[in-house]
Amino acid sequence: MSSHTAHEALGVVIWLFFIAYAVMKYYSNLEKLILITIVSFLFCYIGSTLPDIDNKKSRAFRRMNFFIAVGVFSAVFYYLSKTASSLEKAVISVIVSALITLGVVLTVTFIMPRHRGPIHSFKTGMIYGLFVLIISFFIFRNYLLAVLIGFFAFLSFASHLLLDKA
Ligand SMILES: [Zn+2]
Repeated sequence: MSSHTAHEALGVVIWLFFIAYAVMKYYSNLEKLILITIVSFLFCYIGSTLPDIDNKKSRAFRRMNFFIAVGVFSAVFYYLSKTASSLEKAVISVIVSALITLGVVLTVTFIMPRHRGPIHSFKTGMIYGLFVLIISFFIFRNYLLAVLIGFFAFLSFASHLLLDKA
């Protein structure tokens, strides 16, 4: 098993404990339970491999760059194309969006700290957990649920650090 797969597997194991709790608590509200399942899975899954974004050869790093590129390109292009009245302007919007996207991706690559440096720390895991807590609260408007999802996201991040040391 590659180390990437091992990290993902551990993230899924941690998520299973959360989802066992969620099923017990929300089995009567299937719609909500499905949304909880998806959101919590994504955050545990991402958390378990997230620390390796500081390794430029890792799948986590390439994945992150891919999402940043799609996000930045879409946002810039959406903004620019709103005022593009001609084909020429639309083509320029595409070129400018691509250049800005390239600039952002290269900047992220350049400023990324060394592998297993500050990103491989429980402090960064806590920031990730807090970030997940806030997003989850906006989705579910429920403090306990948001805190739990944030905590399990932190656990999956922390599991990565422990597995790296094992
Ligand atoms: Zn790692």
